[in-house]
Amino acid sequence: MTPTSLEFDSCPECGSAISVGTHCIRCGTETQSASRGFAASPTEPTYLPSVASTLFPQLPRSSLWPFRFALVGGAAVLAGLGAAGLFPLGLMAAAVLVPLLVVLYVYAVDVYEDEPLRVLALTVAWGILAGVGFGILERAVAPDATALPFTSTTWLVTVEGVLLAAVAVVLAAAGPFALLPYERFNDVLDGATFGVTSAAAFAGSSVIASSSGLFAEGFRPVADADVWIFRLLQQGIATPLLFAGAIGGLAGSAWLRYRAPARDRHRLGALGHPLVAFVVAGLLVAAARVAVIELTPWQALLVSIVLVTAALLWLRLVIHVGLVEESFEGNEGPSVVCANCGNDTPSYGFCAHCGVALKALPKARAAA
Ligand SMILES: [Zn+2]
Ligand SMILES: [Zn+2]
Repeated sequence: MTPTSLEFDSCPECGSAISVGTHCIRCGTETQSASRGFAASPTEPTYLPSVASTLFPQLPRSSLWPFRFALVGGAAVLAGLGAAGLFPLGLMAAAVLVPLLVVLYVYAVDVYEDEPLRVLALTVAWGILAGVGFGILERAVAPDATALPFTSTTWLVTVEGVLLAAVAVVLAAAGPFALLPYERFNDVLDGATFGVTSAAAFAGSSVIASSSGLFAEGFRPVADADVWIFRLLQQGIATPLLFAGAIGGLAGSAWLRYRAPARDRHRLGALGHPLVAFVVAGLLVAAARVAVIELTPWQALLVSIVLVTAALLWLRLVIHVGLVEESFEGNEGPSVVCANCGNDTPSYGFCAHCGVALKALPKARAAA
């Protein structure tokens, strides 16, 4: 045996024996370069704020593109509706765009086919109801904030910005957290998916509920078209993505803490503590809300993009750590066909050929 083939015999990252392929089936590391990408999408680095592979980790690589096109196309449609002055239609489109993509994703990967009702009730239905309640509360507590343009006051910043952000995070996370005790939903990926789904539904329905006052007495836009383009992009793209990332990160952290094997519970450090995770999620949402009140629309949108990036990276890290840690739990099973690369691979944690976490694929999950 040459020294090179000896190196191949054990994984440079975790030391596990390598039998077939180019990737370690326990930790997903590419054995020759000793490098590892994002566990759910190994061609991408772990710290890349990619929207599609972070919010939809169980889609195989080839299926990510339709979701990417839909997001970019949706943003263009929102901007177009704002520019054309079709504001009521624009708000409706802003409210449904991201939630619709998330529901399509959950349906497409078909993860919860044997128990869809409980999952849908506590994520989508709860998110919608909580979002409507939140939108009504928002209008009652700080009616100024539903009119454009905003006039900043201390009251508005404290209540509409900070306090309501905390309420929103608690409400959006409550449904997913009700699923935490069930053994059936043991994986970090489950928690992250529940958080993303509930948060997207919450963000969408709260847009409609908090904006309904705009239409009550006959709709008359009080702001320029460019302010509306901002508002539609903020409410249709930035806010739902921020909620999905923050609540997904929060729920995933809780799952890692309470559902993962005991040795893995502290892998995320302080960020893995549910109370810290809650404060982080609250700060992300509060910062975006205060930016909308205090800054010009385009500055606020820029701040939101930075916050969305941070939230997505957090969610991505939670998913990655969860997938790698959970891979060490099971035993090697019979070969399966990897839905990401199409090769036969032992059904363990990761595909031996492309390095994707098999739990992050619809078919492998169904077979398990
Ligand atoms: Zn390894
Ligand atoms: Zn593969």
